[in-house]
Amino acid sequence: MSIVESYVITHSFIFNKKISRYLPGGEHSNFFHDTSNRLHFRQIRGSRCVDLDGNEYVDLYNGSGSVFLGYGYPDFISSLRHCIDQNLIPRQSELEWETAQYLAEAIPCCEQVRFGLSGTEMVTNALRLARAFTGREIIIRFQGHYHGSSDSMLPNNIKNRTSQNSTVIELPWNDADKLESCLRNYPVAAIIMEPICINGWGIEPLAGYLEKTRELCNRFGSLLIFDEIITGVRTGLGGIQKNTSVTPDLSLFGKSIGNGIPITVLVGKRSIMSLYEKRQLVHGGTFNGHVLGLAAIRSTFSSLVRQPQAYTALEEKVERLQTIILHAANECNLEMVIQGGPNCLVLNCSKTPIRHYDECTKRIQRNNHLIRQYLRRTGILTAPLLRLYPNMMLDNDDLIFMEQRFLTAFRNARRCIDYLDRDKHAF
Ligand code: PMP
Repeated sequence: MSIVESYVITHSFIFNKKISRYLPGGEHSNFFHDTSNRLHFRQIRGSRCVDLDGNEYVDLYNGSGSVFLGYGYPDFISSLRHCIDQNLIPRQSELEWETAQYLAEAIPCCEQVRFGLSGTEMVTNALRLARAFTGREIIIRFQGHYHGSSDSMLPNNIKNRTSQNSTVIELPWNDADKLESCLRNYPVAAIIMEPICINGWGIEPLAGYLEKTRELCNRFGSLLIFDEIITGVRTGLGGIQKNTSVTPDLSLFGKSIGNGIPITVLVGKRSIMSLYEKRQLVHGGTFNGHVLGLAAIRSTFSSLVRQPQAYTALEEKVERLQTIILHAANECNLEMVIQGGPNCLVLNCSKTPIRHYDECTKRIQRNNHLIRQYLRRTGILTAPLLRLYPNMMLDNDDLIFMEQRFLTAFRNARRCIDYLDRDKHAF
């Protein structure tokens, strides 16, 4: 139990005890054991949700960043409702055409598309495809980047009772020399990365690093894969690749593309994707191309294409949110920087932005975690690692709701940090 967790017996507390009888640990994922008092919700609308005890929150967690339009976004709901009423064909529906077209128009590397359900599964498919295309086995991945929970893709620091995979090499990110030397020494099938490392402190690529990586891939015959499962649609319809001059060979989009409905896509160049057509490798899945997921993508893209100003409107609100956060941190004398990308922010209790994965000390991690807990207590939900994924329905009232609460949470965190800092062995 975390140090800021309350022992008060609530509906939530009782529900957690009850559900633990059937769900191991009372949950669906083992990653973030940060509290035993998990929240369950009975109402959810716009950017707000209400838990079993009637406590209201502004949700900046949004289903691990998957809800982007917002909860109950009217056009999205009516489109899915229509799909259920008219068209609930598990696959092979007419929606395939329109959906694929939206993706191809928005995403620079997208000439062809395969649909799946989870990020983990489609990353696995992307790597299999890269290996089949290049005839090589080795994959390069980077510290702090997350690409799902398959055995071979778990980062070295969280490998836990999984088989070790000697064909995956983990390197520090943003180090072009190490990358070049690895490519010189090994026949590498693909390099996979988050183009902004949202899963690892929100570190951005150093100037020229993505371009250099692209050049090295071309020179050494390796494929470049951008995992845009978080950044796709959330930072702009075409993801980070749309705003750089670097086009990967393959890319993964998930989460926001379906506004919370499970659907993921693997997109890429025709010369590579055509291996599927030639039956040179397998890709299976009962629910691939499920019509509900396609309807979710179509509705998300059509809403955002129809109103491109929606991004600017959200960015303005996110700017106000950042001002609120930095003002509150300043008032409480808390070290804080905001990193990450547009609409996927990462707060770090650090004096200066974190540029390399191992610069995030245990103390910064502890303080980030404390702040997340105190924010939850005051009615603001954030994603683990203190990530903020606002949705498009965030409004002025939500910002007003959060203003005083950030200050209260930071004040409480400040007191707790001061107390812990007195004991040098506290972390
Ligand atoms: N890639 C990235 C960048 C992710 O953030 C995630 C999940 N957070 C995944 C892959 C795995 O997706 P899933 O949880 O749907 O398997």
